[in-house]
Amino acid sequence: MLRKKIEQLAEASQQLEPSPEQRQSWDAAVHDYAHGYIDSLPTWKAYHVVDNPAAALLDFPLDGQPKPLEQVLGVLKTNLHEAGLNPASGGHLGYIPGGGIYPTALGDYLAAVTNAYAGIFFGGPGAVRIENMLIRWMCELVGYPATALGNLSSGGSIANLIAFVTARDSKKITSRQVRKSVIYLTEQVHHCVHKAIRIGGMAEAVVRNVPMDNRFRMDASALARMVEQDVAEGKKPFLVVASAGTTDTGAVDPLESVADIAEQHGMWFHVDAAYGGFFLLADVENPDGSTVKDVFKGIERSDSVAIDPHKGMFLAYGLGAILIKDVQAQMASHYYRANYMQDTFDANEELSPADLSPELTKHFRGLRMWLPLQLLGIQPFKSALEEKILLCRYFYEAIQQLGFEVGPYPELSVCTYRYVPRDGSDANDFNRRLVEHVQHDGRIFVSSTNIGGVFWIRLAVLSFRTHLREIDTLLEVFKNGVEKLEKC
Ligand SMILES: *Cc1c(COP(=O)(O)O)cnc(C)c1O
Repeated sequence: MLRKKIEQLAEASQQLEPSPEQRQSWDAAVHDYAHGYIDSLPTWKAYHVVDNPAAALLDFPLDGQPKPLEQVLGVLKTNLHEAGLNPASGGHLGYIPGGGIYPTALGDYLAAVTNAYAGIFFGGPGAVRIENMLIRWMCELVGYPATALGNLSSGGSIANLIAFVTARDSKKITSRQVRKSVIYLTEQVHHCVHKAIRIGGMAEAVVRNVPMDNRFRMDASALARMVEQDVAEGKKPFLVVASAGTTDTGAVDPLESVADIAEQHGMWFHVDAAYGGFFLLADVENPDGSTVKDVFKGIERSDSVAIDPHKGMFLAYGLGAILIKDVQAQMASHYYRANYMQDTFDANEELSPADLSPELTKHFRGLRMWLPLQLLGIQPFKSALEEKILLCRYFYEAIQQLGFEVGPYPELSVCTYRYVPRDGSDANDFNRRLVEHVQHDGRIFVSSTNIGGVFWIRLAVLSFRTHLREIDTLLEVFKNGVEKLEKC
């Protein structure tokens, strides 16, 4: 009786294991969709202004009924790609783009088909070793010793959170000490650091905004003075967060000087290089004779670095990394020994991601980076990163030719600019309307920011698909926009 019932249920769930013919037919449809998408990208807008974006999805409810793949893909197409921002477009020059190189998808595909487990070395030695090799490769890039490790996360926010929790525990901040513990950062630090402080239980800690120089970099002498004053008042400085490429302006804090101060006072020194870190691969000279690599000097003296392969390695969204010099500290905050895991305890040839992050069951996200790196080698990535720096410099010069005012010379591939209208009307309002003009045109997408009450438009060049064509188009859109807005 029971056997019969079980057999009936197996039969009824048969579709969960499609036949080879069914798989091939699905593959072909998805393949057509994906390649049609990539091949038509040059004609797609980077941004679509539409009323009620993605509204049609509500008419396509999860009603529990099976549907043909063609219908499902059709709904996806209209609701996913014809509204809002198109992050795969080379015209995406807002926020921090990346683009999503195709081999990322092949890595994800194989990771999902094999359902490889990347949580614990005992269960997934190949996957865990590949992830650890990737992490050690990035550790080498930032100048960490071979004993450093870290974790591949979903993105920079989780990477920063893992670093924050590790710093908190490593510096032995217990609940009684939270109120007198001091964290130093600048107003330009990414907001995920503030989230990490709150999630990490330290919302009541003292958070000091260190003043910045005129290029939005942390003023190291001001930091030194603040720390000394806090020590004199009996507070406990325990963490300084520097940025290696801020999101707003691409500024890199003076890492060497910050390292000196952190060392002197026994503070944890964290560098958020989520956006900028991979520019360590670029060989580009600066106008003053220094190099872009020089700007990162001192990063090797930090305790932890957050770095985002889904930005600077151009991978599709879903891969950040935290690198931690003292991996034992990371482990102390994140490991657990549950009885039902007892078979796994002794297989420690490689440290396991599950002991170095909040995750346990974890898909093999490293494959989306390992496969492209092995397939293409590092050279195309280096060249693309160098191209991005030069594109930003090219734009920085050209936009001034159009009469725009600019922010600091770009250290990496982000710059800020705004048009000051000649008739003396409100510049913030003018630039807000100028951004709207660019968004309505749609071929290129840029975003804006507010620095000290001034509305600045940003350019963030980091999609591998952004080339001279996109920058020239943007310049043309701005030229027309200014002409149009000055007339009315
Ligand atoms: C993007 C970014 C983050 C956040 O990373 P996510 O991958 O978006 O979670 C943190 N810091 C900086 C400097 C960033 O540019």
